[in-house]
Amino acid sequence: MPEFDFRAPRLFVDAALREGERIVLERNQSNYLGNVLRLSAGDNILVFNGRDGEWQAQIGGRKRPDTLTILGRTRPQDRLPDIAYVFAPLKHARLDYMVQKAVEMGASALQPVLTRHTQASRVNVERMRANVIEAAEQCGILSLAAVTEPVALDRFLEKRETSRLLVFCDEAADIGNPIGALQQGLSATEGIDVVIGPEGGFAEEERTLLLRQPKTLRLSLGPRILRADTAGVAALALVQAALGDWRGPG
Ligand code: SAH
Repeated sequence: MPEFDFRAPRLFVDAALREGERIVLERNQSNYLGNVLRLSAGDNILVFNGRDGEWQAQIGGRKRPDTLTILGRTRPQDRLPDIAYVFAPLKHARLDYMVQKAVEMGASALQPVLTRHTQASRVNVERMRANVIEAAEQCGILSLAAVTEPVALDRFLEKRETSRLLVFCDEAADIGNPIGALQQGLSATEGIDVVIGPEGGFAEEERTLLLRQPKTLRLSLGPRILRADTAGVAALALVQAALGDWRGPG
């Protein structure tokens, strides 16, 4: 793992980052730095905006942190593997968890899909974005996963790039060596969509539709039925290990 400072607080800011740039903090950022982290003028933190890499910044302000002055760059912008996490959204706290874990696992896009048995009828996309930022701040990722509005599963399948590999996590698939299946399977050079169903599972016609996609790899995650949030983490770990950035650079 490249060396970087794990302990320094890391903050996402939306502004362009350049040496000498001064950024006015939003109220919640000021509160977070001052009241949660107990930092004040003169203290240094790390900042990133998802585009310009990671920079050291110094806090300014009288009573509480008001501004940041950008000092030097600490890391260049990183890139995430082209792995989209396509999932039936869960409710509230478990959706928060699902989003945070997918970001930690290095998914570069989060696509909620509505299926027959999806429990959550409404998805708070803004809240998902806030969770993406929080998870990225915590785990040191400099790129933010793109969050897309929910779409119906059939619509998603109609619109997606069919040259991408579709990893369909299916508890009814034959159990085998998942790493081998991913490595010896279809080409993943055009990107990967990892699909996880809702708690109630996919309906039969949905399963048929998924299996009819041009580059579908039906993946078993072992002999136990996992809850959807666990299945997401397990699937992303396997995909990262077999085809993604757990293999090392290049
Ligand atoms: N149909 C199940 C529950 C689905 S679990 C039932 O109600 O009995 C939720 C999702 O997690 C599934 O749609 C699937 O995508 C994934 N999943 C869970 N366990 C899995 C396994 N052992 N192998 C592959 N996918 C799994």
